[in-house]
Amino acid sequence: MKAFVTGGAGFIGSHLVDQLLKNGHSVTVYDNLSSGEKQFIHHNMQRTDFTFIKADLLDLKRVKKEIPGHDIIFHLAANPHVRLGEKQTDLDINQGIVATYNVLEAMRQNSIKKIVFSSSSVVYGETAEPSLPETYGPTLPISLYGAGKLGAEGLISAFCGTFDFQTWIYRFANIVGARGTHGVIVDFIEKLKANPHELEILGDGKQCKPYLYVSDCVDGILFGLAQAPEKINLFNLSCDTTTTVARIAEMVTEEMDLKNVSFKYTGGIRGWKGDVPRFQLDAKKINTLGWKATLASDEAVRKAIRDVLYAKL
Ligand code: NAD
Repeated sequence: MKAFVTGGAGFIGSHLVDQLLKNGHSVTVYDNLSSGEKQFIHHNMQRTDFTFIKADLLDLKRVKKEIPGHDIIFHLAANPHVRLGEKQTDLDINQGIVATYNVLEAMRQNSIKKIVFSSSSVVYGETAEPSLPETYGPTLPISLYGAGKLGAEGLISAFCGTFDFQTWIYRFANIVGARGTHGVIVDFIEKLKANPHELEILGDGKQCKPYLYVSDCVDGILFGLAQAPEKINLFNLSCDTTTTVARIAEMVTEEMDLKNVSFKYTGGIRGWKGDVPRFQLDAKKINTLGWKATLASDEAVRKAIRDVLYAKL
C-alpha cells in the first residue's frame, strides 16, 4: 500500500514509517519539521519507496497537491505539547482541528477513504474512573490539546458518516522511547544535566499514568488496522500498569548514576493547569483482538530513559 504519514518526521511517526517500510509499503512523509527532526528519517532518504515533503498541513492547497495516489493516511501531525495551549489558545484549534479538516477534505476530493488517527487519553478529561474504556462518556477534556483531539475525532467520525470514510482512531497512553523529544523523561534528563544536585518536579510527584513503549505503540496501530474491519474502529492503546512521576525521577537518577539528588516538588496534584494527574486506560478491546503491550509501564520508562540518555535513534 502507499501510505501518507503526516508528522512522519516526529517521534512516533518516524518509528511508524520505519515499520511500514519494513513491511514492504511505500511511504510519503508530510511534515513541517516544527517539532519533528530530519535525522529521524535521514536513513530512509535514499530509498525509492520513500518520499519526504517538507510542508505545512495548514496549507490546504499543498495538501491537496501531495495527497493523490495514496491508499491510506496516517495522521499524526499535531502540536505535541499539552501545556502550550495555556499560552497560545488557538494552537490546538489550528494544529488539531483545522489541520485534520484539511487532511480529510484533501482525502475526500481525491477519493481516499482510510485514515488512521493518533488521539490521546486526554479526550476523557479528569474522571473518577479507575480504568477508562472506549465507551466512557461524556468525554470532557480539560486541556485545549484534549479539545483539539476530541474535535478531530468528531470530524473524522463525521467524514465516515457523510462520505463513507473508514477510520482507526487510537487513544494513546503516554508514549516513550528512542527519538523522544518531549515529556517527563526528557524534561528530567535535561534538568539533571544542567544541575545534577537538584531536580524540580512539577506537582507532588504522585501523578500516575501508563507509559507505553514506542515500538508497542506502532505494533498496536498496525495490529488494529489489520484486524479491525468496522467503519469506525476506536481503541485505547496502553499497557496495564502505571508509573508515578516520583518513580520516574528515581529511575532517571539511577540511570544517570547520580546520588543524593534533592527532589524539589512545585506542589499541587497536577503538573500544570490542564494536566490530568491520574488515569489508566482500559485496553481490553484491543487485547481481546490479540494485541498486548510487551513492556509494562515501569519497563517502558526504564528503557526509554536509556534510549534518551544514549541518544539512541
Ligand atoms: P512529535 O512532535 O514528535 O510529532 C508531531 C509531528 O508533526 C512533528 O514531526 C511535527 O514537525 C509535525 N507537525 C506538527 N504540525 C504540523 C503541521 N501543521 N504540518 C505538518 N507537520 C506538522 O510528537 P509525537 O509525540 O510523535 O506525537 C505524534 C502524535 O501522537 C501527535 O498527534 C500527538 O498528539 C499524538 N500523541 C502523542 C502522545 C505521546 O505521548 N507522545 C500521546 C498521545 C497522543
